[in-house]
Amino acid sequence: MIIGSHVQMKAPLFLEGSVQEALDYGANALMLYTGAPQNTKRREIRDMHVTEAQALMKANGIPMERMIIHAPYIINPANSVKPEVAELAVEFLQQELYRVREIGARYVVLHPGSYTTTDLETGIRTIISQLNKVTVPDEVTVCLETMAGKGSEVGYRFEHLEEILSGLAQQERYGVCFDTCHTSDSGYDIADFDSVLDEFDRIIGLSLLHVIHLNDSKNARGARKDRHENIGLGTIGFETLHAITANERTASVPKILETPYIGAKPPYRQEIEMLRKGIFDRKVLEDLKV
Ligand code: FE
Ligand code: FE
Ligand code: ZN
Repeated sequence: MIIGSHVQMKAPLFLEGSVQEALDYGANALMLYTGAPQNTKRREIRDMHVTEAQALMKANGIPMERMIIHAPYIINPANSVKPEVAELAVEFLQQELYRVREIGARYVVLHPGSYTTTDLETGIRTIISQLNKVTVPDEVTVCLETMAGKGSEVGYRFEHLEEILSGLAQQERYGVCFDTCHTSDSGYDIADFDSVLDEFDRIIGLSLLHVIHLNDSKNARGARKDRHENIGLGTIGFETLHAITANERTASVPKILETPYIGAKPPYRQEIEMLRKGIFDRKVLEDLKV
């Protein structure tokens, strides 16, 4: 099972600390932001302990492509209303992709964005034209994330992602990240994961699925809310999420937990262990509260 979680990336050890955090959780994959997700301030790559992080990954037999990078959410490639936001999206995404190459990671998860005051079709056309201004390095693959459909979010149907992908000049440098909370919130019945995978395969192609965000949801299917819940405590439930980790068709796809902290503590070591064993223990999570 290839499984890990979102981890921190902070002074003094930066990426080396991120890998160490993942190892502490018993993970063999991880995901991080290369800086604060809400601003464009970035530390020089040479200060980020890249060599040490790579060595730690290698020593633990974890390939660098399992260090997944999440693009900052201030990047909104669907925005055609504010020119300064649109320009920032392109410039900053370009910089970020070069940083990812320097770090030696491969997969970058990107939210397709929100169309704000325009409409879905304008949003999709804007995303295509914005992404076509960016050069994705050969070593990097950008994964568009399936979204919940909150507000004016684009990408809550597989068809949206397919339409974007088919308009891209560098199609071979793109793929998809499947978020279980988001797809359930957007209306897909992921309790029948094989049927959802069939639909994904028909519309997008299963070979383009590179990352799974494994989250439970606080809201009912179709609510279009996007509020993550801990594994087994939400409306998706442990059985379905465990079945997703055990599905052979996606065995080679890293599963990344983005579940909330419990009582200011990360729940990832406990959630990973429960998923590996296939046994849910509510008390283990509740005990984190005290
Ligand atoms: Fe995301
Ligand atoms: Fe996600
Ligand atoms: Zn989310």
